[in-house]
Amino acid sequence: MDDQEALSRAAQALFRAERCLVLTGAGISLESGIPTFRGPGGLWEGFRAEELATPEAFAANPARVWRWYRWRAAQYGDCVPNGGHEVIAKLEGRFPDFLLATQNVDGLHPRAGSQRLVELHGTITTMRCEICGALEPFPDPVGPDEDPIPRCDGCHGRMRPHILWFGEQYWPGVLERAMGAARDAEVVLVVGTSGQVWPPAMLALEAKRIGAFLIDVNPDATEISAAADVHLRGPSGELLPQLWERLLALG
Ligand SMILES: [Zn+2]
Repeated sequence: MDDQEALSRAAQALFRAERCLVLTGAGISLESGIPTFRGPGGLWEGFRAEELATPEAFAANPARVWRWYRWRAAQYGDCVPNGGHEVIAKLEGRFPDFLLATQNVDGLHPRAGSQRLVELHGTITTMRCEICGALEPFPDPVGPDEDPIPRCDGCHGRMRPHILWFGEQYWPGVLERAMGAARDAEVVLVVGTSGQVWPPAMLALEAKRIGAFLIDVNPDATEISAAADVHLRGPSGELLPQLWERLLALG
């Protein structure tokens, strides 16, 4: 199957379907300049992400963890959604039954206009009270001499980023909602996920197993692309707009 045929087949599958699940990972945000914080370039003040994004790190030094997240939030705020995020937001309007499940915490999907979404790992745009669970928007920047740890408006408890840390369980209902969509979906579009984070890969493979048409958009070959009906191989910021044009041409 050449690239043009792959695009056509993917567009036809999306055109015919009424129930669609989209799964996205870090790859979709690469073209927006979102750093992955992995590998040797991913250090912050000498720490790896795995040493900061844990409940243990937060318990030991909440100010350090907050300063890291505030730095990340500022970086993310400078990034903008790319053509891939925009196509997924537009795609939502074509399906009576639609869910976007993302591993990303960068907030670019909602900024692109996606509404029917579940952020599996939380979001850097929100913080949560450790005591009462209240959710509030991410705090405004503070100066270097100010306390970086925000407090809850309601109970004055300590706030933490509303992000799923290493070693934490998925929040109740989150995975179930995505799994329900995977079981119902006629077509599943996977974008920019390595397949190494297991729940999203499992959702895609389970949907395929029970009959969904599986489209993978990824520059690399992965476990998901190996199982996919169509593998669109390349950057999603280019391929998804091409796919959208094909879809519009069908009607
Ligand atoms: Zn509270």
